[in-house]
Amino acid sequence: THERVRSNLHNIHPYQPGISEDQLRKEFGLAHLIKLNSNENALGPSPLALEAIARELPKLHLYPDGGSDLLREAIARHHALRMEEVFAGNGSDDIIKLISETFLEEGDEVVVPFPSFSQYGFGAEVMKANIRSVPLRSDFSYDVQALLAAITNKTKLLYLCTPNNPTGTVLKYSEFTWLMERVPKDVFVIVDLAYDNYATDPERFFVTKDALIYPNVCYLHTFSKLYGLAGLRVGYALGNEQVWSYVHRVREPFNVNRVAQRGAQAALEDVEHVRRSVALAQRSREQYATLENYGLRVIPSEANFTLVEVGNGIQAFEQLKQKGILVRAGYPGLESFVRVTFGLDEENEVCIEALCEFG
Ligand code: PMP
Repeated sequence: THERVRSNLHNIHPYQPGISEDQLRKEFGLAHLIKLNSNENALGPSPLALEAIARELPKLHLYPDGGSDLLREAIARHHALRMEEVFAGNGSDDIIKLISETFLEEGDEVVVPFPSFSQYGFGAEVMKANIRSVPLRSDFSYDVQALLAAITNKTKLLYLCTPNNPTGTVLKYSEFTWLMERVPKDVFVIVDLAYDNYATDPERFFVTKDALIYPNVCYLHTFSKLYGLAGLRVGYALGNEQVWSYVHRVREPFNVNRVAQRGAQAALEDVEHVRRSVALAQRSREQYATLENYGLRVIPSEANFTLVEVGNGIQAFEQLKQKGILVRAGYPGLESFVRVTFGLDEENEVCIEALCEFG
């Protein structure tokens, strides 16, 4: 019976990605929904991925390659690494959970920035590890001294997210190297680069070809944002092959499905889709910056979303929802903000007009 589930599960809530699109259409009868709540790609999936997926469908009676070898080979080539240094997952969510399962035991500590992506804490909680949240500074920049100070001899994992979700702010290259020189070598550092390709700040951290000189670091990437494949569920991590040799022991035998492997592999080649996606984010940034003229604070973002200060985030969320515009609100510590994913030009215009009311 449910009383006998593991004790820590009583305090964990199922992930709620906002409201389901179908449910909302039913509830409000909205003909057109402007979905700006999950940092998806408004341009849709990579067309090259769609073609590859269609070609793979007749083979769906066959199990996929459990090791995702061809996909990992392609990713390795893309980053000038070896395939053993690449781990593929059912979304980067899968990889976060697998890293947690690989490293964490009850009572271990995990250092996470705050606010940041919720799944880091979730992975820790499921394993009965303790989370040490380290607040960003008031301008949402990283406080690397505080992150370092939060590390104890129980710390197993340190998460960094750049550009950070939900603030859109970046970790500087110099801050990354400062940290890596000081963080104990037995702490595994996970740098989540889900939104990396949208960033342009020349000072930001980015992965170079000798990115893996630190054996205790890995870099997380996803096909859900730039490549427009959130529904396909593919993410990957670059890091030390010895670490992956253990993560392979805890993953499901076929954790990346057959169409996902081929779709993601094809998306890597879709330079044109990537270019258009990045260009859309850059245009959107300029569009949302105009809200400053209406007295609204817009946090400069290096990602495909931005925080807008609206007074009462939850109230604004409800009001926008009535107009068929779905954004995200209710982040602890960010009660006065909504997070808006960049949409198509015309979707942004509608959203910006609605947001002006909060100025
Ligand atoms: N990391 C960050 C920072 C994210 O914002 C997201 C998506 N919300 C993910 C990871 C998860 O991506 P995926 O779809 O690959 O699981």
